[in-house]
Amino acid sequence: MTTQNTTGIIKVAVIGGGPAGLGAAIELNKLPFVDWNVYEQATAIREIGAGISIQPSTWRLLEVMGAAKNFHSKNIYRPRDNHAVQHRNGRTGELLYSHGQEGTPLDQLHARTQRSTLQQALLKEVDQSRVHVAHRLVKVERQLSGKLKLRFENGYSDEVDLVVGADGIRSVVRDYAFPEHRISYTGKTAYRVIVPEEAIAHLNIPDAITFWHGPDSWLYTCALGGGKYEITSMARELDKDADKVSWGQHAAIEDHTRHFKEFLPLVKDVVAFSNEIKQYAMFAGPRLDRIIAQDSVVLVGDASHPLSGAFGAGAGFALEDVYTLGQALKWAHENNLGIAAALGLVDKVRSPHYEKLYDILNEFGNTDSYIRSQNPPLSFDDAVAIIAKEIWSIRHHWIYDYDIQQVWKDAVEAEKSRNTVAGGSLLKGTQSLNNISIAAEAQSKL
Ligand SMILES: Cc1cc2nc3c(=O)[nH]c(=O)nc-3n(C[C@H](O)[C@H](O)[C@H](O)COP(=O)(O)OP(=O)(O)OC[C@H]3O[C@@H](n4cnc5c(N)ncnc54)[C@H](O)[C@@H]3O)c2cc1C
Repeated sequence: MTTQNTTGIIKVAVIGGGPAGLGAAIELNKLPFVDWNVYEQATAIREIGAGISIQPSTWRLLEVMGAAKNFHSKNIYRPRDNHAVQHRNGRTGELLYSHGQEGTPLDQLHARTQRSTLQQALLKEVDQSRVHVAHRLVKVERQLSGKLKLRFENGYSDEVDLVVGADGIRSVVRDYAFPEHRISYTGKTAYRVIVPEEAIAHLNIPDAITFWHGPDSWLYTCALGGGKYEITSMARELDKDADKVSWGQHAAIEDHTRHFKEFLPLVKDVVAFSNEIKQYAMFAGPRLDRIIAQDSVVLVGDASHPLSGAFGAGAGFALEDVYTLGQALKWAHENNLGIAAALGLVDKVRSPHYEKLYDILNEFGNTDSYIRSQNPPLSFDDAVAIIAKEIWSIRHHWIYDYDIQQVWKDAVEAEKSRNTVAGGSLLKGTQSLNNISIAAEAQSKL
């Protein structure tokens, strides 16, 4: 084992102060045997300029983390009809599919809000004296002791037993643990802007969270609470030199409107509305077989699954990851197991989940290829009907109701029976976290 020290305390560095990093801080703080710090490259914990969905599964975890109470109802938006999302034909406005949320408790209904609102709600539950901003990780080095040395751009360094890579889609921790892994441009560009709600009131956009679909692009309209309104779109832009378009670069109105020429007047008015819109070339990467490495690195959030915002639930996935990590470290501690065992169980729980999500993305890709391979080409309406049926379908709604707490309980039960059947001891092959404490206690008595 590479993770012990003489104090019985595990030193953990969390890299990144996004939803994954802040969630990790909350969960690790519940473990008295963990000494944690968060390192964030930005000069402040903040999220600017975008909206985010909070799905029922995410609300449940925000409750577990104590952060759900920090949302004020005026700062979130829920449609009055309790439908999560409406999918419309962008040319005719016809409603193709609308997902009701029967059976979902009112306080867990899907909501939209600004990412800053989510960040602040999480941050309120974090011991901020352990959050170090303006600390950009630039290098990870393995020490002979087995510990990991972290070097930061500002000259600071730290040596830890466990690194939690919560540093987003361009993760430096992932580069260290899986140097072969690459992300690349998906061929799609997002355009996003948040405007004052009253500024677009005259357009009479339906009071709903709405996708306006076309064969190659969609527009997304919804309120975010707090008097703000989100306009987001996604368009196929295969010709883009994505490396030259930095994240959040200003876009000319024509860059955006050219994708919506065949859409109904309301959609055209919305896309032509703001000249403040920014563009985001979307990057993604293949699935990692494992999200842990070297018994001392675990990837969480976008660092572990560079999906580029697919499913609109990345913050929720991040919280599921860190909930699992916290539970696994606690489980290992209680069962006299080491960090390696804890990380092994995290991977056992989370990697198959991501495999399922990537499989769904492959299905989406197949549908897309089918639409594009038709000769003569499908009409706007026929293509959109297939997209609504195959991609935005009820089949995938389990993702938003995913109960990680139950999944975790089942995983622990499975481990118990596996060890009973094998007649094995949980202690086998790994030094225990409790043993470290016992050893430290004995040492302090000498
Ligand atoms: C267009 C788009 C739409 C989306 N819509 C939704 C949605 O509706 N709902 C939803 O749940 N999710 C959505 N997502 C996904 C969601 O934004 C991410 O999944 C979520 O933010 C992941 O959180 P994270 O903490 O893993 O990563 P991030 O939020 O990216 O946070 C990573 C943090 O690490 C810091 N960092 C990076 N490198 C370093 C370093 N070297 N040293 C120190 N710090 C570092 C960054 O500054 C950042 O603060 C969307 C994503 C995109 C791109």
